[in-house]
Amino acid sequence: MNSRCAFVSKIIPFSCVDGPGSRLALFLQGCNMRCKNCHNPWTIGRCNHCGECVLTCPHQALTLAGGQVQWHAHICQQCDTCLHGCPQQATPMAQLMSVDAVLAHIRNAALFIEGLTVSGGEATLQLPFLHALFTAMRADPSLHHLKNLVDSNGLLSETGWRKLLPVCDGAMIDLKAWSNEHHRFLTGRENTQVKTSLRLLAAENKLVELRLLLIPEHCDYLTHIDALTAFIHQLGNVPVRLNAFHRHGVYGTAATWRSATADDIEPLADALLARGVTTVLLPALYL
Ligand code: SF4
Ligand code: SF4
Repeated sequence: MNSRCAFVSKIIPFSCVDGPGSRLALFLQGCNMRCKNCHNPWTIGRCNHCGECVLTCPHQALTLAGGQVQWHAHICQQCDTCLHGCPQQATPMAQLMSVDAVLAHIRNAALFIEGLTVSGGEATLQLPFLHALFTAMRADPSLHHLKNLVDSNGLLSETGWRKLLPVCDGAMIDLKAWSNEHHRFLTGRENTQVKTSLRLLAAENKLVELRLLLIPEHCDYLTHIDALTAFIHQLGNVPVRLNAFHRHGVYGTAATWRSATADDIEPLADALLARGVTTVLLPALYL
């Protein structure tokens, strides 16, 4: 029995876009970046029970009692109306869940999935839970065949990775910009630790994918293409996934930015391939 808990934003039992193959995707609540381009902006903050979302729910699935907002899952229609006005970039639907409760979801899906991806928000902010969950999966004969992956922004310290890696099958890391200055503009944080994490994970053979997000007119990869490709070669030519920015669901200034098309992605893909990057994965869809 394991009662260690995490704030869970959402569970998708069968996902084909959160890592290789069919996977259960577990989204943890809370993030230590503030990306202008975030596609899940309601996973960034933590609910402070201000109550502003309660009256916006068209199905009366939210109530306020004793200063606490309560979400009634059996009434909720998953319309997401409550997400849009939250001043904390949070969701009233985030739930505190134990390792055992999450394992029950994984067991229900286990016959139909190849693994688990823990995403967010930033999954590694709840490191003790993550470690306990992966350890419990490996100890369970009905689950230990499943590959557990982390989808991370790469800000975790080396100490944190060293704790997690013995029970983790791999990580997919976003490098949202090459230069520190542009990374700070997009995310509010510098990228030195992200690059350090990428080097560490590659050296430990745990880097499943390096992810680059192409935002038209707000992207510096081509400006620094030689330095970027030299870095990718240092990592050992890991798979590089190109993701296309789409503005649907994005908050603030980035909602006015242009979504990426195949015409935006191709020059970057061509530049990487021309410099010897061997595996460049293109977006599965454009919106
Ligand atoms: S989810 Fe957001 S709007 Fe709703 S109570 Fe929590 S902080 Fe307030
Ligand atoms: S998603 Fe939010 S607004 Fe929609 S029914 Fe559920 S609680 Fe209400």
